[in-house]
Order: sequence, then structure tokens, then C-alpha cells
Amino acid sequence: MAEMAKVAVLTEPRTFEYHEVAIPEIGPDDGILRVEAAGLCGTDWEQYLGHLDNTPWAVRPIIPGHEILGWIDKVGPEAAKRWDVKEGDRVTVEASIPCGQCFQCQVGRPVLCKNGMGYGLRMGFNNAPHLWGGYATHMYLHPGATLHKAPSDVPTDIMSLFNPMSNAVRWAVERPETGIGDTIVIEGPGQRGLLAVVAAREAGAGQIIVTGTKNDTLRLSLARELGADETIVVDDEDPVERVTEITGGKLADIVVDVSSFATKPITDAIEMVRPGGKVVVAGLKSFAPIPNFVSDKLITKEISMLGVLSSSWSSVEKSIDIIRRKGDTLKKLCTHHYPVDQADKAVRVLGREVIDGPEAVHVHIDAASTT
Ligand SMILES: [Zn+2]
Ligand SMILES: [Zn+2]
Repeated sequence: MAEMAKVAVLTEPRTFEYHEVAIPEIGPDDGILRVEAAGLCGTDWEQYLGHLDNTPWAVRPIIPGHEILGWIDKVGPEAAKRWDVKEGDRVTVEASIPCGQCFQCQVGRPVLCKNGMGYGLRMGFNNAPHLWGGYATHMYLHPGATLHKAPSDVPTDIMSLFNPMSNAVRWAVERPETGIGDTIVIEGPGQRGLLAVVAAREAGAGQIIVTGTKNDTLRLSLARELGADETIVVDDEDPVERVTEITGGKLADIVVDVSSFATKPITDAIEMVRPGGKVVVAGLKSFAPIPNFVSDKLITKEISMLGVLSSSWSSVEKSIDIIRRKGDTLKKLCTHHYPVDQADKAVRVLGREVIDGPEAVHVHIDAASTT
């Protein structure tokens, strides 16, 4: 009898079913991952609520989990050569499965590939061999999957930060070209905001300022521990006034919005960035329009607004390198983990709908543990 994988399947908004699925035989060009961890982010929460229903990620039933860490369980000889891996290697798997041929793949943005394949968000559970997501003990490695080697000696919870860290590298450093001495404001102290502090420090940023709400007490103290110079509680203080004060009127070179739902950080960013500065837009607003958005301000201040989705090959590699060197300092971000059959609770803890001990920062499915 075939070995079975345990999986969590999102069938409807807010509805998980737990199943066992036969692990498929592989050929020369594919493989099987033994999942170690699947990190959760705001996208998992929106997917769970059904908020992605008018987007390409509206697939159900689906095994969620797009921030995937694991070990090579089985690999065909051709795939082993191409990925340069062997059984037992620890790897991270990128969410998208790019075609390699289309315009976006050719210009180096495989994340925007039109082929509609990808783990945890795009490939539904009904597509054989079914194992297309990280909320599972095993996952199918398609010949087109993109893998990165991970160090074997970093603990699971810290290594599972590789995806938010790679986002932080791309959003706070690569895309706005953050350099030595730059003043950067990070709006929203979620896991990506906190890791953006680490990434910006690595890049040589000067002043790092993080904004949050009064519900973010733990997160803002973590921001300071990780290297933020100043934190602003936006319920108590006007963030634009504070940034003006802190920078002596120069304003910020770069503002990165990683807050979800709230739209005011976008209009605040336009006020707190200096003329000629850059605003990186990364926090999803459930497709809501931005009240009081005045595009003329972009013109008169010559502000660049940069929308960012996901990571790049290089940002994942840099992320793994930062975690290898600085992992110990990131331990406090890893607040919660749950086995596959508690996926529902994991997502609700991430969404702060369920409180389970400390304030949730980074939540992951620990696929190697069982209840
Ligand atoms: Zn994610
Ligand atoms: Zn493509």
C-alpha cells in the first residue's frame, strides 16, 4: 500500500477538512518533499476568509501553504541534477511554478507567470497528484518547481521565517534600493515589518522608524530590539508629525507600507516621504480604494510609488543567508506553531481572531509534529 500524506484542505471559506492522500510514485523528473514547516502570512488569512475570491488565488478546494520548507524525500535522477539536490537535503520551495517561457518568465519575474501554477494558492486539491500545498506532511515537487538549499542546522521555527524575510529583503531593500544612511519608515510591525527592520539594518540604513497601533505593544518592542531607532503608536501620535520631528524636517527617504486593511498608511506615506523619495506599497487592503489619495502630490513631490508582490530569486538567497547568520536574534518572532490537523486554529491565531498565549507574530504549520 502506498504511503499516505496527511493534508488540510480548505473547502469553503472558514472550512477545513483533514484527509489522507496516497503519496504518488515519481518519475525521473520530479520529486516528493517531506514538509517540515509552512509559514503563514496575511494571504493565508485572506484566503481562509474568502477575500481572495475575485483574484487568481480564488481556488478551492485547496491545500493552502505557500511558504514551504522541507526535506527532499524522493527525487528522480533528472530532477536531482537540475535542482542539484539529493534525498535528505533541506530546501525551501518557491510558491510559483513558472513555465520559464512566457514574457514575465523571460524578463525575470516568474512570480507573474501566466501559467497559473503554484503551491498553496493556485493549484487546487482536485488536480492529481493532489499534494500542491504546504499544510501537509508531504508535497509533490513538479519538474518546474523552484528550490533553494537551506542550512541544516537552523531550528525549524527560525528557518520558517525564510519567506517573510525574503519579502522584507525585496520590499525594504532591493526594490527601493535602500542604501547606507537612508532613513526608512516601516508602517506596520507584522512579521514582514519586523524583518524589514533587520533587512534595512543589513543594507546600512541610517534611521529606522516603525509605526504600529496600540494593539502592537509586543511587536513594537520587538522592532526596537531588532534595531529600530524609533517606534510610533499611531493612535497616540500623528505619525507624519513624529517623522518630521525625528528627521529634523528632512522626512524619510523611503516609506514601506506593510500594514494590512488600513488605508491611511498610504496617504501618510505620501506626506512623510521626502521630495524625490520612494513609497513601497506591500500591504493588501482587500481591494478597497484609498480615501483622500491625491495623485498630484506624487507629481509635485516627484514620489515614486512601487507596488511589490512576493520575492525574487536573489531575495530568497539573501534571506537564507541572513537567517544563517542572524537566526538567533529572530527567535522571539516565532510565537506559534501547530500540526497539520490544527490548520484552522493556526490561521485564526494568525488573524488574531483566536488568542492562544502571547501576541501572534510568526505562525507556522509544523508538519513534522503530530497531535
Ligand atoms: Zn505568504
Ligand atoms: Zn511563465
